[in-house]
Amino acid sequence: MKALLKVNEGYSGVALQDIQEPAIESNEQIKIKVHAAGICGTDMHIIYDEYPVNMPVVMGHEFSGTIVELGSDVKDFSIGDRVVSLTAAVTCGKCIYCKQGVLMLCNSRKSIGSGVNGAFAEYLIVPSRAVYKIPENISLDEAALSEPLACVVRCLIERGTVTSNHHVVISGVGAMGMLALQVSVANGAKVVVVGTSRDKDRLEIAKEFGAYEAINIENPEAFERLQELGGPYGFDVAIECAGHESSLDNSIQLLRKQGELIQVGLFGKPIRFNSDLLLMKEIKYVNGFASNPTSWDIALTLMKENKVSLSKLISHKFALDDWEAAINSVKQGQGFKTLFMPNA
Ligand SMILES: [Zn+2]
Ligand SMILES: [Zn+2]
Repeated sequence: MKALLKVNEGYSGVALQDIQEPAIESNEQIKIKVHAAGICGTDMHIIYDEYPVNMPVVMGHEFSGTIVELGSDVKDFSIGDRVVSLTAAVTCGKCIYCKQGVLMLCNSRKSIGSGVNGAFAEYLIVPSRAVYKIPENISLDEAALSEPLACVVRCLIERGTVTSNHHVVISGVGAMGMLALQVSVANGAKVVVVGTSRDKDRLEIAKEFGAYEAINIENPEAFERLQELGGPYGFDVAIECAGHESSLDNSIQLLRKQGELIQVGLFGKPIRFNSDLLLMKEIKYVNGFASNPTSWDIALTLMKENKVSLSKLISHKFALDDWEAAINSVKQGQGFKTLFMPNA
């Protein structure tokens, strides 16, 4: 089967290869035919060696598909079921983190698309405990965004406290920023989003998703306007989704004292920020590493109840053969989510 792998360092270490189709090796596994697999910021960090991987590995962790084969011990699922899965495919099951259900923190964790083979391929194998059925009202295309949605839920709801009446500023208007916007609005928050000149179209769409104002930070009066919007004290919550130093800096400045700073984006490198200002404002800095089973329960409920709109976030679709064009479109910051359609 065709698969896009990270086999070596750098961009030149990414390769489309014909590899053996995976087979079920234990009774708890499920074989999934991939329908769509989204390219994530993390995949870009993997391509440029800014995120640890177990090479050679098939990339891709945000996917949807249908079950084509079941291990003999798998109950609750049938051939043909439309499914998604969380990324922590390998965990010890015994440590304090596994027992709490915080699978991503298990020392033995291996994730789909970095530790074990992922979804930029025609098929993949996943343990049944990681698999979830897709709500009936959600298409297979849309379901490919359930993993990033679960990550946003982890940051905003499980680790952060975005609730109604919170005045929120979101910095970064890519797919994660738009999901953070929708989850915040679904929870009753009042949200302003911030992007740059290259986000002109994205800033317009943010209003459709419920942002009451969308600001281009490169406009000369932008920061002043944001301070005005934050009111006399500043914003209650700032969500950093861009993974840029300047965006983090603005977030710290715009927050009120004792506000909450939620880190969603990865920077891909060590960064500098004003820790003293964070301290003097008693800002709580929280984050989240991918998602846990509880995050998926919340994310799938949001989808089922139509509290989030995922289809508008799908901007590009590519065959695996056109992987270079797909990566380029992500690099240029076009649209929101680019999907691979490995079996199309
Ligand atoms: Zn992702
Ligand atoms: Zn463990």
